[in-house]
Amino acid sequence: MEFCRTHFLAILSLVLLFPRTTKGWGEDGHAIICKIAQPRLNNAAAEAVQNLLPKYAENDLGRVCSWADHVKFIFPWSSALHYIDTPDNLCNYQYTRDCKDENGLKGRCVAGAINNYTNQLLSYGRDSDSQYNLTQALLFLSHFMGDIHQPLHVGFTSDRGGNTIDVHWYTRKTNLHHVWDDSIIETAEQRFYDSDMDGFIDAIKKNITKEWSDQVGDWESCDYTKTTCPNIYASESIKAACEWAYKDVSENSVLGDDYFSSRLPTVNLRLAQGGVRLAATLNRIFS
Ligand SMILES: [Zn+2]
Repeated sequence: MEFCRTHFLAILSLVLLFPRTTKGWGEDGHAIICKIAQPRLNNAAAEAVQNLLPKYAENDLGRVCSWADHVKFIFPWSSALHYIDTPDNLCNYQYTRDCKDENGLKGRCVAGAINNYTNQLLSYGRDSDSQYNLTQALLFLSHFMGDIHQPLHVGFTSDRGGNTIDVHWYTRKTNLHHVWDDSIIETAEQRFYDSDMDGFIDAIKKNITKEWSDQVGDWESCDYTKTTCPNIYASESIKAACEWAYKDVSENSVLGDDYFSSRLPTVNLRLAQGGVRLAATLNRIFS
């Protein structure tokens, strides 16, 4: 898909005006991950990101982290790249078995997309007329690194990652997927941070440097021959989906304080890991 740069940027600014869709962490979840990642970039990666970001983002990756959700209607081929369907109740993930779209096309899943856009970005600065749109590649990669850390983006096939499981979030009717995209995050922001996303981000950042400081090196590291490790992130997600998201939930369950307080630590952890790994991946790409 070839777009001239001006055309692409015009579409970019247009699509930001469209209302949010709810696939992948919601707007806040993605923004949180990108805002955790950007200050962790080394000089080379920070400079490359600044060069590649569209002007209207004002060098704030968090502002365009949900772009990939807004362009599904212009790029219908990209819809399958936001998630992975795994076999019902197995609670594990295998790339060769699971990374495909609904038509069985291999590699068309969020793990395959992360590998693909990482490889595209590796041509940055090496090839002056790269065949790729690297702005697009950066925005897709930043978004998909978030999606792969949302446990229900690596969910069961028959319920489409919890999308077909109707539940109540306190008194409001919704579905289980949406609870993990948005509701837990929104409730945490309202309850503990005066509805201020930046307060929530600061709390997660503090945990990264204190409570989780001895694990961060493990999160960042990857097989030494690889630039990014989406298979690890996807395996963790389906495990968390079984242990936390799906657990004790059935059609029409009412989810309230017990569910919220026992699942919030997992949401915090996945947002932190998503941010740390997005930064680590970009640092490896551009160094
Ligand atoms: Zn998404």
